[in-house]
Amino acid sequence: MIAYTPSSESGGAGLAIMLLLLVFAGLVFVVHLSKRGRTRTFDSRLNRKRGKRLDQMLAGREGDRLSDWQRRVIADNIGLYDWVPEELRGPWEERILVFLESFPFTDMEDGPVSEEKRLLVAAEACLLIVRRRMSDYRHLQRIHLWKDKITGMENALGTATQFEVNLSWSYLKKSIGKARDGHNLTLHEFAHLIDFADDGIAQSIPVSPSSPAVKEWEAMVEEEHKRLMKVYGSGKNYSIRAYGGYESIKGDKPELFSCGTSAFFERSARLKRECPKVYQALNEFYGVDPATWRQQKTD
Ligand SMILES: [Zn+2]
Repeated sequence: MIAYTPSSESGGAGLAIMLLLLVFAGLVFVVHLSKRGRTRTFDSRLNRKRGKRLDQMLAGREGDRLSDWQRRVIADNIGLYDWVPEELRGPWEERILVFLESFPFTDMEDGPVSEEKRLLVAAEACLLIVRRRMSDYRHLQRIHLWKDKITGMENALGTATQFEVNLSWSYLKKSIGKARDGHNLTLHEFAHLIDFADDGIAQSIPVSPSSPAVKEWEAMVEEEHKRLMKVYGSGKNYSIRAYGGYESIKGDKPELFSCGTSAFFERSARLKRECPKVYQALNEFYGVDPATWRQQKTD
């Protein structure tokens, strides 16, 4: 399980806070790895078949669009909505429709999950895969929405395993309207899911071990992780939040990809300037170029 903790970058205090966060997150991560083990089959036949079905469902949705009400809910609540270019709106809506009919939600405290809540989570999760396949979410079984704190994980605002996502609704609601702060709970947790999908491990390398790109990813993660630690160690601020520096006792660095993903969509120009290699890797992986997006006014 990978946890999302509150903001940690704050100039001079950054390193000390980061170390505290890393100790906490380390406990969580160790427990998860010991349960899961590294030898388990990460991509069962069942999930490959499910991935194929999800991709077929998406193909069947070509040209389908959200209702005016659904579009209005997303436009009124999601800060990034106005930044998404026109040519991505159609593919985005098709994926949202497939997501809504494919993945169950559980409200852990507040009664039935409203259509509005489902829509907002689906929309942000599908922004990540707007130029990718629906089968990125082939392992996802359920999304749990918590009113505020996540039972058993009281210091986390969200968590992800290969199969499930937990989200604190009160935090999600507070942050969903801000398109430019570099923090996005839903993007963060679903980025973990994508990172898990290829090999069952969240280590910030979202491509499969047999991919020709894997060496480049490994080198990029090592280099950028060192750089992030150095910047926060010297008390400066950075486009990727400090939590991206978390490292497990086995040496995995699961948070760089998720924190980098939030920065990619919400601090794109700064990320491109400060970490061009991270930006380029995410640009190629997600197939979008948020640094070129311009805010449009939705009526
Ligand atoms: Zn995380």
